[in-house]
Amino acid sequence: MALLSTITGLILAGGRGTRMGRVDKGLQPFRGATLAAHVMQRLAPQVASVAINANRNLAQYQAIADAAAGPGASGTVLPDQLGNYEGPLAGLHTGLLHCPTALLLTAPCDSPFLPADLAQRLHAAMREQDADLAVAVTMEPDDSGALQRQPHPVFSLMKASLLPQLEAYLATGARRMEGWYKTLRMAEVMFEPADAFRNINTLAELQHFEHAGPPAAPAQALASFAAGNPDSLPVAQAQRLILDSIVPVAEQESVALRAALERVLAQDIVSPINVPAYDNSAMDGYALRGSDLPVDTAAPVTLKVIGIVYAGRPSGLAVGPGECVRIMTGAAIPAGCDSVLPQEQAAAIGEDRVTIAHGAIRPGDNRRFAGEDLKAGDVALAQGTVLRPAHLGLIASLGIAQVSVRRHLRVAFFSTGDELRGVGEELSTGCVYDSNRYTLFGMLTRLGVEVIDLGIVRDQPEALEAAVRSACAQADAIITSGGVSLGTADYTRDIMARLGEVSFWQLAMRPGRPLAFGKVGSKGRDAWLFGLPGNPVAVMVSFYFFARPALLRLMGAGAGQRTPPLLRARTQATIRKRTGRTEYQRGILDTGADGAPQVRLTGAQGSGILSSMSAANCIVVLHDDQGNVAQGDLVDVIPFDGLV
Ligand code: AMP
Ligand code: MG
Repeated sequence: MALLSTITGLILAGGRGTRMGRVDKGLQPFRGATLAAHVMQRLAPQVASVAINANRNLAQYQAIADAAAGPGASGTVLPDQLGNYEGPLAGLHTGLLHCPTALLLTAPCDSPFLPADLAQRLHAAMREQDADLAVAVTMEPDDSGALQRQPHPVFSLMKASLLPQLEAYLATGARRMEGWYKTLRMAEVMFEPADAFRNINTLAELQHFEHAGPPAAPAQALASFAAGNPDSLPVAQAQRLILDSIVPVAEQESVALRAALERVLAQDIVSPINVPAYDNSAMDGYALRGSDLPVDTAAPVTLKVIGIVYAGRPSGLAVGPGECVRIMTGAAIPAGCDSVLPQEQAAAIGEDRVTIAHGAIRPGDNRRFAGEDLKAGDVALAQGTVLRPAHLGLIASLGIAQVSVRRHLRVAFFSTGDELRGVGEELSTGCVYDSNRYTLFGMLTRLGVEVIDLGIVRDQPEALEAAVRSACAQADAIITSGGVSLGTADYTRDIMARLGEVSFWQLAMRPGRPLAFGKVGSKGRDAWLFGLPGNPVAVMVSFYFFARPALLRLMGAGAGQRTPPLLRARTQATIRKRTGRTEYQRGILDTGADGAPQVRLTGAQGSGILSSMSAANCIVVLHDDQGNVAQGDLVDVIPFDGLV
């Protein structure tokens, strides 16, 4: 379908999502992407460019707009100019205000199936009928089953020059699209099938159309993948949705170098000096002029030793032809010299004479140059670096004693479940000790955050709501365990919808299918929420692969620091694995007889079997597209030491 360069697209995503429990509709996961991204994919090929009208989660919409704008380009996200949440006309108003072309085409963020010829057909009708506006119409069955004309006012093409008329209409206080359209010359265009205009209004519909209805937008590689896996969002998609939402904390503090260990560098460290600061010797030996080295294989050269130079003591020596200086490692190379003969390579050493055979060294050998490690003005360390021992050493080598780091994160966590008992309490029938708060404590502490343990919360809506509110007041992020699986999530969902915007996902992974992620707020303070499953192994795995990278991003850690590298190891036995989901199995990594890394699983891999985790020293990562693994095949592993 041809692209119409006189038309700008506008995705209307500025609503409150009231029928979806106030979640941001456009950002709901759908067939491997978000609803708004699907609309973008359908609309972008039809028009010059597409802007998004949104009133919250602007960073996430910006990412969708940027992705559509292409590499290096940035897309447009436009919040309502007119108050807050005044409906689609307010979005349209903003779109017209910023429309760079003669025509504006709107589509709602919840219509992932919109027709590929929408722009073209509305445009043709508008021209033929000399209209100001063209609107899509379908035939829909009414209650008796008879087909009725159903206009779709949010799928409309209009002249950008209508802006003054819209402003006059809005000034009357009216807010209905149909009302305004009635005042204009409108063309109606009949589309078939009606399915293409299906919009998704409730979470139930979202779930239904995940696998039913028209095919997804083309070029959605992941969509077909997700479609083959009922009810599941691929791990990589969920990870991306989470990371795209999070913006690092801005506050910084200046700390003494030692206190900066494991903290995140907030500003680039620029080297104030050359390192090393002067040319110096890499060896104990004799500093000499390269031009004095023997040129004839048969004729060694003997040089006169005119003095000795130590590290840290300036010598003031100047070396002439036929002369050399005894020099210690790290001492400044004396004027006139450019090479160092290691003492063990001298052919003979006398009282004040050194003899050098041909070929012992080449001119320039064993000299360290000023600035060869770092030059003054170079960025020695980039902001976002998590400071490890080598970094402290490097900063010290520049003479810097204080560094700017991002502030500590505060992370609150609690366990949910009527069956949970604290350690030290008596265990009655049907109860289990709460272990999740201990694994979470350990993982969070090693991540370097301030932990706030809010204890065990009973399975009661009031208790849960109070705990989340209390966590919001104290923390940047909240980690809960339990209560998000399909059977238990209902009231959790309601509470989260009241307190903020949280998505409940079923992931294509094992262990740990359910995951809730979003933002909650109370009394003007908000916090990111990670609702992890209850099973102890699932908690750890979900923490490592979802919460940990997100918290690192929130702390300001750069992209390279958030995901540990995967190693390859040979499996010592076959591993059963189902394609279509990511499995994180627990393994023991060691070195085989041939010196190559090898891995075996730690027995039963059930998501409640914490001993599978405590006996392991690595996680075997089996990717979505992998099936059973034969003995001897290579698999990806992540050693625990690389995690926290
Ligand atoms: P849920 O997702 O709340 O249904 O929990 C799933 C399973 O994990 C149940 O068997 C719970 O008893 C168990 N579980 C939940 N929370 C914890 C915890 N903090 N410590 C140990 N087991 C837990
Ligand atoms: Mg529970």
